[in-house]
Amino acid sequence: MIKKILIANRGEIALRVLRACRELGIKTVAIHSEADESAMHVRMADESICVGPASAQSSYLNIPAIITAATLTNADGIHPGYGFLSENQRFAEIIEEHNIKFIGPHSSHIKIMGNKIDAKKVMDENKVPTVPGLNDVTDNKKIEQFIDNIGLPVIVKAASGGGGKGMRVVFKSDEIENAINSAKAEAKKSFNDDKVYLEKFLTTPKHIEIQILADAHGNVVTLGERDCSIQRKHQKLIEESPSELLTDKKRKEISDLCKKAVSAIGYEGVGTLEFLYENENFYFMEMNTRLQVEHPVTEMVTGIDLVKQQILAASGEKLTMTQEDISMKGHSIECRINAEHPESFIPSPGKITQYHQPGGLGVRVDSAVYQGYSVPPHYDSMIGKLITYADNRKECIARMNRALEEYVIMGINTNIQLHQKIIMSDEFQSGNYDINFMSTFN
Ligand code: ADP
Repeated sequence: MIKKILIANRGEIALRVLRACRELGIKTVAIHSEADESAMHVRMADESICVGPASAQSSYLNIPAIITAATLTNADGIHPGYGFLSENQRFAEIIEEHNIKFIGPHSSHIKIMGNKIDAKKVMDENKVPTVPGLNDVTDNKKIEQFIDNIGLPVIVKAASGGGGKGMRVVFKSDEIENAINSAKAEAKKSFNDDKVYLEKFLTTPKHIEIQILADAHGNVVTLGERDCSIQRKHQKLIEESPSELLTDKKRKEISDLCKKAVSAIGYEGVGTLEFLYENENFYFMEMNTRLQVEHPVTEMVTGIDLVKQQILAASGEKLTMTQEDISMKGHSIECRINAEHPESFIPSPGKITQYHQPGGLGVRVDSAVYQGYSVPPHYDSMIGKLITYADNRKECIARMNRALEEYVIMGINTNIQLHQKIIMSDEFQSGNYDINFMSTFN
């Protein structure tokens, strides 16, 4: 069993991992930048170590400094959280080379799934339905043929893409060349890889993803779905489980396919297969080989602690549950609380002068902020997640509305009121919304 884990992250996810470690009796090491000296994850960890100046590049992405910190503190495991180095194959490899356990899948799986073209190939081979696409965008004839076959619109996507970057939707065939060139330039800048591909652009899909959990002994379970269709600029804002539109039959069909594919490649740890869902058809887009921001909604409806399971799997333990032991009960919703201007969405860092977080039955707040804390300008603007749970969706929405009303964060701008407006809208309440929800919402 792993004895001491260095958490290579900050904010709410660093706390989330730290809490799981505490419950498992594992010691923790926090890393932090110079800007995060007084952050909650630093205060709560058993040990902490500064890995560099404020910029993420010099600290939370600084592999030599993080490995040195792990060596100095004798950590035998590293948990990457999400974002930062969580899907960096080289980071996982270096950790493996240092005989430290990377709490995540094998680096080879990060590599395959890190390239969306390769990931789709793997899924194709394993009978998981994928979005129709064209991988070679250098041949104009092939592009013409592809568009003739599937029709417009199409979307240009970056093979190494993430965070909604490097995507361009094309509605007219004479726009394709420009779209490819500008997606390439953005992909090169963001991911240092200008490989792009084409996909059929689905106009009214839901974003539905399947959570899987696998051990090192070939056992895999699926933990239902999350509906993450409420997005802004292809970035998730609200997630829920289960999805209002999915029948038990559909859920089982897609879950079984995911399980087979994940088993076939010998994947270990937690992972998520992301799909678009339109006219009762699933289309695989990509697999995330890490813990997701929205994992709590799955934890609430299944009662399974995904971070503990992830650590146990990385320690070589066998899963203690089978698929038959897993059931989804009740309903859960998560709202991502961002420090940002409610209309312009411009980040709003600064000092939190008053803070009161909601509580009561079925309310969970995953956040690392506190009264007097200054939200630094250097990192992502998400400062917490508000999660509610109830017997059914209607009660869960009412509880979320109540919890949002209770949430007081003064001194900075947040999107709390926007969340209230969204969840109280007729369209959200119907459950029958798609990924275009935010573009028409006002
Ligand atoms: P990233 O890794 O950058 O988050 P994804 O491939 O996960 O990119 O896609 C993010 C979002 O972009 C999806 O949830 C969806 O809203 C939109 N999107 C991506 N591909 C398509 C497509 N083929 N058709 C319609 N929307 C898409």
